[in-house]
Amino acid sequence: MGGPEEAEAADEPAADEPARSRAASNGPAESEATAGGSRGDARFDVPLRGVGVDDETRCVHYRTARDVIAIRFPCCETFFPCFECHAACCEHDTERWPPDRFDERAVLCGACREVLTVDSYLASDHECSNCGASFNPGCVDHYDRYFAVGTKRDEQ
Ligand SMILES: [Zn+2]
Ligand SMILES: [Zn+2]
Ligand SMILES: [Zn+2]
Repeated sequence: MGGPEEAEAADEPAADEPARSRAASNGPAESEATAGGSRGDARFDVPLRGVGVDDETRCVHYRTARDVIAIRFPCCETFFPCFECHAACCEHDTERWPPDRFDERAVLCGACREVLTVDSYLASDHECSNCGASFNPGCVDHYDRYFAVGTKRDEQ
Protein backbone atom coordinates (compact mmCIF):
# COMPACT_ATOMS: atom_id res chain seq x y z
CA MET A 1 0.00 0.00 0.00
CA GLY A 2 2.71 2.44 0.99
CA GLY A 3 0.53 5.19 2.29
CA PRO A 4 2.35 8.01 3.96
CA GLU A 5 3.06 7.35 7.58
CA GLU A 6 1.34 9.54 10.03
CA ALA A 7 3.50 12.47 10.78
CA GLU A 8 4.27 12.60 14.44
CA ALA A 9 3.01 15.71 16.07
CA ALA A 10 6.14 16.60 17.97
CA ASP A 11 4.65 19.12 20.27
CA GLU A 12 7.00 18.54 23.12
CA PRO A 13 8.86 21.67 24.05
CA ALA A 14 12.53 21.03 23.40
CA ALA A 15 13.46 22.42 26.74
CA ASP A 16 17.03 21.47 27.40
CA GLU A 17 17.90 20.16 24.06
CA PRO A 18 19.76 22.64 21.91
CA ALA A 19 18.28 22.12 18.54
CA ARG A 20 21.56 22.60 16.81
CA SER A 21 23.44 19.80 18.49
CA ARG A 22 20.87 17.39 17.36
CA ALA A 23 23.01 15.06 15.36
CA ALA A 24 21.76 14.02 12.02
CA SER A 25 19.74 11.14 13.18
CA ASN A 26 21.12 7.84 12.17
CA GLY A 27 17.77 6.31 12.66
CA PRO A 28 16.75 3.21 10.88
CA ALA A 29 16.52 3.72 7.20
CA GLU A 30 13.24 2.98 5.64
CA SER A 31 12.72 -0.68 5.71
CA GLU A 32 11.95 -2.44 2.58
CA ALA A 33 11.81 -5.98 1.52
CA THR A 34 15.20 -7.57 1.48
CA ALA A 35 15.74 -7.84 -2.18
CA GLY A 36 18.88 -9.86 -1.84
CA GLY A 37 17.71 -12.35 -4.39
CA SER A 38 18.06 -15.98 -3.60
CA ARG A 39 21.39 -15.41 -1.92
CA GLY A 40 19.75 -13.51 0.85
CA ASP A 41 20.92 -10.56 2.85
CA ALA A 42 24.58 -9.62 2.62
CA ARG A 43 24.62 -8.37 6.21
CA PHE A 44 24.42 -11.90 7.48
CA ASP A 45 26.77 -14.83 7.13
CA VAL A 46 23.88 -17.16 6.60
CA PRO A 47 21.28 -17.08 3.85
CA LEU A 48 18.61 -14.85 5.31
CA ARG A 49 15.60 -13.25 3.72
CA GLY A 50 12.58 -11.40 4.94
CA VAL A 51 10.57 -8.23 4.78
CA GLY A 52 12.06 -5.10 6.27
CA VAL A 53 14.78 -7.00 8.11
CA ASP A 54 16.95 -4.91 10.38
CA ASP A 55 20.47 -5.61 11.61
CA GLU A 56 19.19 -7.77 14.43
CA THR A 57 16.73 -9.71 12.29
CA ARG A 58 13.58 -7.91 13.29
CA CYS A 59 11.07 -7.75 10.47
CA VAL A 60 7.97 -5.78 9.61
CA HIS A 61 5.84 -8.37 11.35
CA TYR A 62 7.77 -8.74 14.60
CA ARG A 63 9.89 -5.81 15.59
CA THR A 64 9.92 -5.38 19.32
CA ALA A 65 13.20 -5.09 21.16
CA ARG A 66 13.16 -8.80 21.76
CA ASP A 67 12.36 -10.02 18.29
CA VAL A 68 15.95 -10.73 17.50
CA ILE A 69 15.97 -14.20 16.10
CA ALA A 70 15.67 -15.68 12.68
CA ILE A 71 14.85 -19.28 12.08
CA ARG A 72 16.16 -21.49 9.35
CA PHE A 73 13.40 -23.27 7.52
CA PRO A 74 14.19 -26.84 6.54
CA CYS A 75 12.18 -26.56 3.32
CA CYS A 76 14.56 -24.05 1.77
CA GLU A 77 17.52 -23.94 4.15
CA THR A 78 17.06 -20.21 4.46
CA PHE A 79 16.71 -18.12 7.60
CA PHE A 80 13.63 -15.95 8.04
CA PRO A 81 12.67 -13.69 10.94
CA CYS A 82 9.21 -15.22 10.99
CA PHE A 83 6.82 -17.48 9.14
CA GLU A 84 5.11 -14.50 7.54
CA CYS A 85 8.40 -13.47 6.00
CA HIS A 86 8.75 -16.99 4.69
CA ALA A 87 5.28 -16.80 3.19
CA ALA A 88 6.09 -13.46 1.60
CA CYS A 89 9.31 -14.70 0.03
CA CYS A 90 8.50 -18.30 -0.85
CA GLU A 91 5.87 -19.99 -2.88
CA HIS A 92 6.20 -23.35 -1.22
CA ASP A 93 4.62 -24.60 1.96
CA THR A 94 6.47 -24.19 5.20
CA GLU A 95 8.19 -27.21 6.59
CA ARG A 96 8.79 -27.61 10.27
CA TRP A 97 11.77 -29.05 12.05
CA PRO A 98 11.14 -32.66 13.00
CA PRO A 99 12.19 -33.60 16.52
CA ASP A 100 14.98 -35.83 15.31
CA ARG A 101 16.70 -32.80 13.82
CA PHE A 102 16.51 -30.54 16.84
CA ASP A 103 20.26 -30.90 17.24
CA GLU A 104 20.81 -28.85 14.10
CA ARG A 105 21.74 -25.21 14.22
CA ALA A 106 18.67 -23.42 13.01
CA VAL A 107 18.04 -20.36 15.19
CA LEU A 108 20.07 -17.25 14.54
CA CYS A 109 20.47 -14.80 17.39
CA GLY A 110 20.31 -11.43 15.69
CA ALA A 111 22.14 -9.81 18.58
CA CYS A 112 25.36 -11.87 18.46
CA ARG A 113 24.82 -13.76 15.21
CA GLU A 114 25.38 -17.09 16.88
CA VAL A 115 23.31 -19.90 15.39
CA LEU A 116 21.77 -21.98 18.12
CA THR A 117 20.52 -25.49 17.82
CA VAL A 118 16.79 -25.97 18.00
CA ASP A 119 17.28 -27.83 21.26
CA SER A 120 19.23 -25.08 22.90
CA TYR A 121 16.79 -22.46 21.66
CA LEU A 122 13.81 -24.35 23.02
CA ALA A 123 15.61 -24.86 26.32
CA SER A 124 16.91 -21.32 26.47
CA ASP A 125 14.24 -19.80 28.66
CA HIS A 126 13.94 -16.90 26.24
CA GLU A 127 17.60 -15.95 26.36
CA CYS A 128 20.45 -16.40 23.96
CA SER A 129 22.72 -19.01 25.48
CA ASN A 130 25.65 -17.24 23.87
CA CYS A 131 25.14 -13.53 24.54
CA GLY A 132 22.21 -13.42 26.93
CA ALA A 133 19.98 -11.34 24.70
CA SER A 134 16.32 -11.60 25.61
CA PHE A 135 14.07 -13.33 23.18
CA ASN A 136 10.40 -12.64 22.86
CA PRO A 137 8.57 -15.05 25.16
CA GLY A 138 5.53 -14.65 22.96
CA CYS A 139 7.29 -16.77 20.38
CA VAL A 140 6.33 -19.78 22.42
CA ASP A 141 2.86 -19.45 20.97
CA HIS A 142 4.32 -19.99 17.54
CA TYR A 143 6.78 -22.77 18.22
CA ASP A 144 4.61 -25.26 16.46
CA ARG A 145 4.83 -23.28 13.27
CA TYR A 146 8.56 -23.86 13.17
CA PHE A 147 9.22 -26.95 15.21
CA ALA A 148 7.22 -30.13 15.39
CA VAL A 149 6.76 -29.85 19.11
CA GLY A 150 3.73 -30.63 21.17
CA THR A 151 2.26 -32.93 18.61
CA LYS A 152 -0.91 -34.27 20.00
CA ARG A 153 -0.16 -37.89 20.33
CA ASP A 154 -3.46 -38.89 21.79
CA GLU A 155 -5.23 -37.81 18.66
CA GLN A 156 -3.91 -40.70 16.70
ZN1 LIG B 1 10.94 -22.62 2.80
ZN1 LIG C 1 8.39 -11.34 9.34
ZN1 LIG D 1 23.06 -14.02 21.11
